[in-house]
Amino acid sequence: MAHIERFAPSPTGYLHLGHAFSALTAWDHAKAEGGTFLLRIEDNDHTRVRPEFEQAIYDDLHWLGLDWPKPVLRQSDNMKAYQTALYLLSALGLTYACECTRSDIKKAQPLPIYGPDGQVYPGTCRNKKLTNTKNTAIRLNMAKAIAHLGGGDHVNLLSFTDINDGRNEHSLNADQLLSKCGDIVLARRDIGTAYHLAVVVDDAAQNITHVTRGQDLFEATQIHRILQVLLGLPTPIYRHHRLIVDENGKRLAKRDNSRAIRKYREGGASPQDICEMVGLGNG
Ligand code: GLU
Repeated sequence: MAHIERFAPSPTGYLHLGHAFSALTAWDHAKAEGGTFLLRIEDNDHTRVRPEFEQAIYDDLHWLGLDWPKPVLRQSDNMKAYQTALYLLSALGLTYACECTRSDIKKAQPLPIYGPDGQVYPGTCRNKKLTNTKNTAIRLNMAKAIAHLGGGDHVNLLSFTDINDGRNEHSLNADQLLSKCGDIVLARRDIGTAYHLAVVVDDAAQNITHVTRGQDLFEATQIHRILQVLLGLPTPIYRHHRLIVDENGKRLAKRDNSRAIRKYREGGASPQDICEMVGLGNG
């Protein structure tokens, strides 16, 4: 089977050492397997993306020695595909419109529970049946989704494979899906889609066989797996790799520009230096 990896950054800031590690890891595995490395630009959030950051992604990755087939898939060019997926889930009766703002959600749940989709939604709009969806988010009704798949016992039989550290099967957990993920956002009111929906649609459309990404997204993979089953999409193999952290053990963030690849470039570092900094010294 062809081995297809992808690196899928969002152009909302400059790539940092954590991105370099992720991209190089995916690249190395693709090359080792005689496979393909794809770049995908996850630019669906038009409120945060900037063209100069997209250009910087191309420049920094090329400088690191990576290359990919063109044209790249840009999510902003692919909105119809997300709408189709949303339509399918709605046709199954598994979605609802939600007019809550962030502060409405905070007020409704003063002791917030956080999971891979942020604060777990308290369900305020679940039974409202809002018909004017012009200015609403669309959520997945997780309880209905689980029921649609035959109930908790059936969902607990679903799993995904993580090959970061050996080959491990991770079962889904219906109780956790309800309590830690809840009614996740499928489409934000301002952009018409959201990360979880777009990523499963794109991974399937690009025939991705291996998803290499940070350990911080491990919990989100349960959500992706359930969306894949609901939408009838294949499930790739996952590799949730270690995170690159700062001297305080904190995961790097785009707003911390001091670890940006281009800062190191400007300071005279070589691509080999970057590989060494992220622990891929023999690359
Ligand atoms: N655009 C996402 C990010 O930069 C991609 C996550 C993924 O690889 O699934 O975090």
